Amino acid sequence: MYDFDVLVLGSGPGGQKAAIAAAKLDRRVAIVERRNMIGGVCINTGTIPSKTLREAVLYLTGLNQREMYGQSYRLKDDITVADLAARTQHVIGREIDVIRSQLARNRVHVITGTGRFEDPHTIAVADDNGRELKVTAEKIVIATGTRPARPESVDFDDCTIIDSDGIVHLEHVPRSMLVVGAGVIGIEYASMFAALGTKVTVVERRERMLDFCDLEIVEALKYHLRDLAVTFRFGETVASVQRHARGALAVLESGKRIAADTVMYSAGRQGMAEQLELDRAGLSADGRGRIAVDEHFATAVDHIYAVGDVIGFPALASTSMEQGRLAAHHACGEPVRALGRLQPIGIYSIPEISFVGRTEDELTEARVPFEVGVSRYRELARGQIIGDSYGMLKLLVSPEDRTLLGVHVFGTGATELVHIGQTVMGCDGAVDYLVDAVFNYPTLAESYKVAALDAMNKMRNIDRLGD
Ligand SMILES: Cc1cc2nc3c(=O)[nH]c(=O)nc-3n(C[C@H](O)[C@H](O)[C@H](O)COP(=O)(O)OP(=O)(O)OC[C@H]3O[C@@H](n4cnc5c(N)ncnc54)[C@H](O)[C@@H]3O)c2cc1C
Repeated sequence: MYDFDVLVLGSGPGGQKAAIAAAKLDRRVAIVERRNMIGGVCINTGTIPSKTLREAVLYLTGLNQREMYGQSYRLKDDITVADLAARTQHVIGREIDVIRSQLARNRVHVITGTGRFEDPHTIAVADDNGRELKVTAEKIVIATGTRPARPESVDFDDCTIIDSDGIVHLEHVPRSMLVVGAGVIGIEYASMFAALGTKVTVVERRERMLDFCDLEIVEALKYHLRDLAVTFRFGETVASVQRHARGALAVLESGKRIAADTVMYSAGRQGMAEQLELDRAGLSADGRGRIAVDEHFATAVDHIYAVGDVIGFPALASTSMEQGRLAAHHACGEPVRALGRLQPIGIYSIPEISFVGRTEDELTEARVPFEVGVSRYRELARGQIIGDSYGMLKLLVSPEDRTLLGVHVFGTGATELVHIGQTVMGCDGAVDYLVDAVFNYPTLAESYKVAALDAMNKMRNIDRLGD
C-alpha cells in the first residue's frame, strides 16, 4: 500500500542508524537527504571535521610533545589551512564512502533532495531544480538535525564573521579570533586555534562555562587555555560587531572593544524543522525548531518518530545514533529497552574532558554523600612516557554501597578512558572491582585502580574513626 515501510528524513547519525536498523528487520527503507550532505552535519560540518582538525592541529603543532622536547618543538612552523584541510577532506571523503556503502549493502534506497510533508504518510522530495517526487511510507522518522543559530543583529559574511560551519571554509589561520559563546563547540574551536598560535578571546554571557561538567576539571581546562594565551570575558555580552577591511571590531556592552581577524559565533543551534511543513502531518515544532517526542521517540502522531538533534538535548552524534536505532525498532514493533541511563559526555577541547554519571555539585545539591578518589597522570608511568603531566581521573564513590556515582577524566585519552568507568557503573559494579583488578602496565587505564585505592583509603580512614 505504501512505497516504503520506513522512510527516514536526514542521513546524519540518527537517520543512518534508524534506516539501517529498519533494513536489518527486513523492512523496505528509504532515506531522504539533501545533495552533498550524506552523513549529515556530523560528517560534513560538525563532529568529524572538527575532530579531524583537532588531530591535525595536535600533530602539526607538536603540542603534546613539548613536555619532552621543549616549548619550541613543532612539526611544522607555518601551518596553513591547506595542511589542515588535507586531513579533514580525506577523512570526510572516507566516511561518506563508508556510509554510502553501508546504506547500499542494506538496500536502503537513497533519495536526493529536500523533503517536506504532503500529508501524514506522504513526503514530497524536491531536487535542486525544484522538481518534486512524492513518496509514501507507513512509518516516518524525522532526523533532520540542526543548523547554527544566527542572531539577527549580526551581519554574517562567512569570511570575517562566521558561525561554526564557517570554520571549515577559512582561507587562512587567523592571527586573532573572537569566539562568542563558551559552549562545547566554542571551547573546542577556541582551544584548537589557540594551539595553532591564534590569539583567542572568548566572550560568554554567563559567569561560568561548561557548567554541567565537574568544576575542578573546568578550572583545569581554563588554566590550560589561559596558558595558550586565551583570554576569557565572562559575564559579558557582545553589543555589536563592525566589519573592517582588515578584520572586525567587537564592542561589548561593558564598552570594551576587541579587534579580531575572525569572529566566530557559537550561539546555539536551531532545529531543521521549518522546511518540513509539519502542520500537514499534524505536528509542530517549538521556537527553536525542536520536535517533542515520548520515551520511544514517537511524536504526537503515532507513526511519525523524531530522533537526534531535532529533538534537542543532548544533541550529540553518540546519542543520536542510539535514538535512531531505538526509534526504528519501536516503529517496527520490535521489543525495545529505554535509552541507557548512563550517557557519557565527551568534550574534545585541548586537553579533552569526559565524564559519565553525576558531578560533585549535583550530588551535593541532592544531599547524596560521596567520597572522591583521584589519580594524576604524572604519577603514572604512562603519563610520564607520553609527557602528560596535567591529566587526572576522579571517581565519585558512594560510601554506603561503594558503587560509582560519577567518573570524570581530564587529559589524554579522556574520551576513551571514561568508558571503563561507564561499564563498571552500567553493571552496577563497586569500587572494589577496580581496587582488585589488574591493569596492563604502563597504561592510563591504571588511573582507575589508583583513584579507586585513593577513595577506598579515605573511606577506610573515616570508618576507623568509629572503631
Ligand atoms: C562543530 C561540531 C562539533 C561536534 N562534535 C561532536 C562530538 O565530538 N561528539 C558528538 O557526539 N557530537 C558532536 N556534535 C554534534 C553532532 O554533530 C550532532 O549531534 C549529530 O550530527 C546529530 O545527528 P542527527 O542525526 O540529528 O543529524 P545531523 O547530523 O544534524 O544531520 C541531519 C541531516 O538532515 C538533513 N536534512 C535536514 N532537513 C532536511 C530535509 N527537509 N530533507 C532532507 N534532508 C534534510 C541535513 O541535510 C543533514 O544532513 C558536534 C556538532 C558540531 C556542529
